[in-house]
Amino acid sequence: MTHWVSRLRAGIALLKPREFALAAAPCPYCGPSLFVRLQREETGVRCTRCAASAVHLALGWALRDQVTHLGECDACELSARGPLVAFLRRSARSLATSEYFADVAPGGLRDGIRCEDVQRLSYADASFDLVTHTEVFEHVPDDARAFAELVRVLRPGGVTIFTVPMHEGELTVERARLRDGALEHVHPPVYHTDPLRDGAGILAFRDYGRDILARLRDAGFAEADLTTPTQRIPWTVPRAVVVARKPA
Ligand SMILES: [Zn+2]
Repeated sequence: MTHWVSRLRAGIALLKPREFALAAAPCPYCGPSLFVRLQREETGVRCTRCAASAVHLALGWALRDQVTHLGECDACELSARGPLVAFLRRSARSLATSEYFADVAPGGLRDGIRCEDVQRLSYADASFDLVTHTEVFEHVPDDARAFAELVRVLRPGGVTIFTVPMHEGELTVERARLRDGALEHVHPPVYHTDPLRDGAGILAFRDYGRDILARLRDAGFAEADLTTPTQRIPWTVPRAVVVARKPA
């Protein structure tokens, strides 16, 4: 099945005809564009040109707000396709992409796509000026180790810009953990799905609270903040985006 056919099917699955709407607005990735709302939920909003979701749009606008010299940045994105990847590929000096496959060693390839585990990246120290990721870290068993890996592969003064699902409260709720390789559920398991991707859901190890900023500083980042993109995204309240910078 080709990618656009699966995308169309996913779109039809999301469509609630009474909530359908169109709006002209700029997209951080493609410029002037037309947006579609398939349903009132945040997951129902898409750019019709690049198919960016509300999460990707928030990340894209935060990236444009925060990184003024993208053309001088060596970038790393923890996925291998989609509008953010396409934008970074044409805008950054270089781009490393990857996906996580549980059964492929870090640095190995599957169907031409590099495999990386953010808890043990195969990239050399100080490889990147920018690392981006959307909705990844809630699925990482040892996120402290993974945040430390981001610090390691960033250059001094380098920045990571990312999204995770966050609740309103202060404290992160650990839902599950790995102990000696065995999965333990502290709370009933929650699985996240991406409606534009095929496949089963992936376990959420935690629901982040605002203490994610302290976790980032504990891992070695000098600054960590939540930013709300300055540009409006049609119909949605913009998602908070995390920005964390390695000491210069
Ligand atoms: Zn777009």
